[in-house]
Amino acid sequence: MATRVALITGGMGGLGETISTKMADAGYRVAVTYSPSNKTADQWRADMKAKGYAFEAVPCDVTDYDSCKACIDKVVKDIGPVDILVNNAGITKDTTFRKMDKAAWDAVIRTNLDSVFNMTKHVYDGMMDRGWGRIINVSSVNGSKGAFGQTNYAAAKAGMHGFTKSLALESARKGVTVNTISPGYIGTKMVTAIPKEILDSKILPQIPVGRLGKPEEIAGLIIYLCSEEAAFVTGANIAINGGQHMA
Ligand code: NDP
Repeated sequence: MATRVALITGGMGGLGETISTKMADAGYRVAVTYSPSNKTADQWRADMKAKGYAFEAVPCDVTDYDSCKACIDKVVKDIGPVDILVNNAGITKDTTFRKMDKAAWDAVIRTNLDSVFNMTKHVYDGMMDRGWGRIINVSSVNGSKGAFGQTNYAAAKAGMHGFTKSLALESARKGVTVNTISPGYIGTKMVTAIPKEILDSKILPQIPVGRLGKPEEIAGLIIYLCSEEAAFVTGANIAINGGQHMA
């Protein structure tokens, strides 16, 4: 079987980097996207190369449909058709609804939810035609349970799963699975930057396992969903949150 090609949006981010390296270790050919405004992309490429990873890294604004098309066209030309899409890019702009302006709403919906359409649209037909594909949408525990100050983010992350369930119905007969994963607090830079006293007093007590999740644990779940053994898992929303929220 030809080596499968995996495309990970936001592949240079806290979770994305670990997903990318673990998927490469698992034998996939990995392409990552980064924001066109990302000034550290060349350094990241060089750091990864030094560690033995030669990722295809393509600039892409996931909020922009044409940018996503250009990115996927380049990946297909350079390394082949995309078999696995991990919609991982995302942002937060937290504030209470009373203070939330239209720009904060739009940016979060566009980056977390419109991006899923913008990326999936350009890989889906090929997956259906080839009779194999994996689409994995990285949502959040807060899309399932809600969170203070996150009406925008929770709406976008919940919307992702509505997309997942509907597309999973349309693609089920063609060997293309579509799933959502919903991480809780994971020890990426974004979360470990939270002051220790807040982590210890407010966040860790919410997590029955008693610690933050590890990016490797998210990558492990994604690698499972990409496997042949996961062909019967579709339309699922898999919680990975240390018991913080049990739906
Ligand atoms: P990071 O901020 O480290 O990474 C987010 C990535 O999204 C970055 O690589 C960034 O790219 C990319 N991105 C943002 N905006 C755009 C854009 N317009 N176009 C292209 N890429 C963009 O966050 P994490 O790694 O922690 O999060 C990854 C995903 O996991 C997100 O969807 C997040 O919501 C979700 N998540 C994270 C949790 C956690 O505890 N960390 C918990 C639950 C869910 P660049 O750096 O190039 O700008």
